[in-house]
Amino acid sequence: MATSEVINLTTVKRDPTFVDRLTPAGRLLSRCIQCGTCTASCPAAPAMDLTPRQMWRLAQLGFQDQVLHSKAMWLCSLCYICHVRCPRGIPLTETIVKLKQLALQEGIGEWRESTAFYRAFSDVMRRYGRMREIEFMVRYFLATNPLAALGYAKLGLTLLGRGKAHLELPRLGGEGRLDRLFERVAELEGQR
Ligand code: SF4
Ligand code: SF4
Repeated sequence: MATSEVINLTTVKRDPTFVDRLTPAGRLLSRCIQCGTCTASCPAAPAMDLTPRQMWRLAQLGFQDQVLHSKAMWLCSLCYICHVRCPRGIPLTETIVKLKQLALQEGIGEWRESTAFYRAFSDVMRRYGRMREIEFMVRYFLATNPLAALGYAKLGLTLLGRGKAHLELPRLGGEGRLDRLFERVAELEGQR
């Protein structure tokens, strides 16, 4: 949805209980005064289809589909700037994490590249305890568009040539060390 699009409130489906599922903010979102501090502070806002301020207003009003189908949440880098600057004390960043969870649970697939990026990144981190770039890229392109990898072949060869990426399996010493952390996060998410 374009930020300038006018929404006809009489025809668009709304779910007034949507905010109740947006932990931890939930009903705290009703405190939002639309001051725009979150948008003005957000380094990713210029690239978003909905600005943070617009996204929270739509959530307040129960426009679940418009929020969950937007790309905004996937561009959020979880930098916490909006979170700490919101004058109404709304836990915005953690609520964006919940939005991502809901979008994944609903099977919303418009932003498959973004979700594949997150999955590939966390899978590699869990496996080695740190990033292994080659495996990350292979996982990402296999999950999205393997042919697109050809466009990065020259860059990959340059990185290999300069020792910035390595083909061999790393001896990182972090294998399995993050398993408990990932399991604990999954437990906490299941409790929400
Ligand atoms: S900074 Fe807080 S109060 Fe201001 S628009 Fe954003 S969410 Fe609403
Ligand atoms: S946490 Fe996300 S939405 Fe908030 S300022 Fe940072 S990038 Fe923007």
